[in-house]
Amino acid sequence: MNDAHEHGQQEQHERLRELLGAHVLGHLVAPEADAVRAHLDGCAGCRAEVAELEPLVARLDAVDPTHLDERPSPAGDLGARIHSGVAAERAAREARAREDERAAARHRSRRRTTLLAAAAAVVVVALASGIALGRASAPQPPAVPLEAISLEVDGPGQQGEGGIELESAGLVAHTWGTELRFVGTGFEEGVVYRAAFRDSGGRLTPAGEFLGTGAAEMSCQLQSALLRPEVVAVVVTDAEGETVLSSEV
Ligand SMILES: [Zn+2]
Repeated sequence: MNDAHEHGQQEQHERLRELLGAHVLGHLVAPEADAVRAHLDGCAGCRAEVAELEPLVARLDAVDPTHLDERPSPAGDLGARIHSGVAAERAAREARAREDERAAARHRSRRRTTLLAAAAAVVVVALASGIALGRASAPQPPAVPLEAISLEVDGPGQQGEGGIELESAGLVAHTWGTELRFVGTGFEEGVVYRAAFRDSGGRLTPAGEFLGTGAAEMSCQLQSALLRPEVVAVVVTDAEGETVLSSEV
């Protein structure tokens, strides 16, 4: 098949396609009617179009002509009308499909929400029963063996009115290291303090840092990897590195 032939077929297709509307309405006479029939035999696209147009013919019979365009239209315009009718029908069908899809999405979303709510309820029930179980069966937390120490306030300006005051201080020996606990007031607000443990070799092992809260009481738990038997002293220094608390232990 050469290009010219193909081109001719394409042109014929375009030309005859315009007549399909008139064809389904039975408005064509020879030779156009014959040409359309012959073309339909060999053109699947046009056959499909006719198949779409045919159901509309019955509907067109029911159309009130006064609702059509005001201009009296020539018969040749019918095909175009049917084409636009088909386009409108297609648009409506697509709109319905979109609406269906939206409804399905809303349904899915509702179902998802329901599932989520159900899942959340299960979690809440699990948590609630966990708490109930915890209350009922958890052993009393073992009392932490706190070794009280006398942490002395050092340094000029730290003692006295507005200075550091300790309510309690102690060490906890853990398998993984040593913890310093104390409750006190008077650590200058916003100042970073550092705690450390000294071992028998004089080395300082950091045990963490904390921010002063001024007059507000604070409860600190500072931890280090140094094991309790290694610890010979506790030292807390201020931002300048000056010792503010210390204790031989
Ligand atoms: Zn065709």
